Amino acid sequence: MGGTPTDLKLIDENGRRLDGRRPDEMRPLRIEAGVLKRADGSAYVEWGLNKVMAAVYGPRECHPRHLQNTERALVQCRYNMASFSVDDRKRPGPDRRSHEISKIISEALTHVVFTEYFPRTSIDVYIEVLQANAGTRCAGLTAASVALADAGVPMRDLVASCAAGKVSDTVVLDLGKEEDNFGQADIPVGYVPRTGEIVLLQMDGDLTHEEFDKGLHMAVEACKKISDIQRDALKRRYSARTQDTEIDSTERSEAV
Ligand code: ADP
Repeated sequence: MGGTPTDLKLIDENGRRLDGRRPDEMRPLRIEAGVLKRADGSAYVEWGLNKVMAAVYGPRECHPRHLQNTERALVQCRYNMASFSVDDRKRPGPDRRSHEISKIISEALTHVVFTEYFPRTSIDVYIEVLQANAGTRCAGLTAASVALADAGVPMRDLVASCAAGKVSDTVVLDLGKEEDNFGQADIPVGYVPRTGEIVLLQMDGDLTHEEFDKGLHMAVEACKKISDIQRDALKRRYSARTQDTEIDSTERSEAV
């Protein structure tokens, strides 16, 4: 968030944003489940110019062992931005921002996973941002919950995530990079459609109560649509898997 350079108009006279979107319009979102062979579950998300991969391992023995909880599983997320994911090379390795994002995503996912089914274990969630263009924590959380479902981890529901914010005194959905850099506020939201719970909520910048309510409402409505896209990705994955099994068994019976 910062001051707008005088020559950069974030919303034009027709109410359109820099990339032509209306204020309540999301960037195009595409999700594919089950993209990595070695992971127990995985998902790839392209959201505008963001490209994010999520991989899930577990439930498996929890390391380090002193973190083990005798009553429930630990959901441990590691969010990482590749050094080539941004215009200026990002210094590799964890930093304050990636620790924060890993923590909030772990907490959001802990709310939906039936952790009590798997005491003493760890469910490890890796989020790799390959290309970043603002909104990567939302893309990461959205990808991670599809990857968890793909891994067969029992959950109350999928978490869907999207940000709203304020640019040029207008409340908008799903901020792009310039809007994030030069806008007035950003509120990432993580939402559980089945229960109506909000499991992630942050705010950067200033909003009035009315603007906050409007932004939150926009983000929640977007999350409901994102949830459908997540489900479609899982359905496609499931039907592809079933077809693979059918082909396998046909090949086997032909070989016999
Ligand atoms: P989010 O990606 O969830 O919106 P931020 O608001 O912290 O998180 O970051 C906004 C955008 O700023 C990122 O998506 C990325 O494009 C860019 N960015 C973040 N960290 C860096 C960095 N270390 N170097 C360059 N660009 C960065």
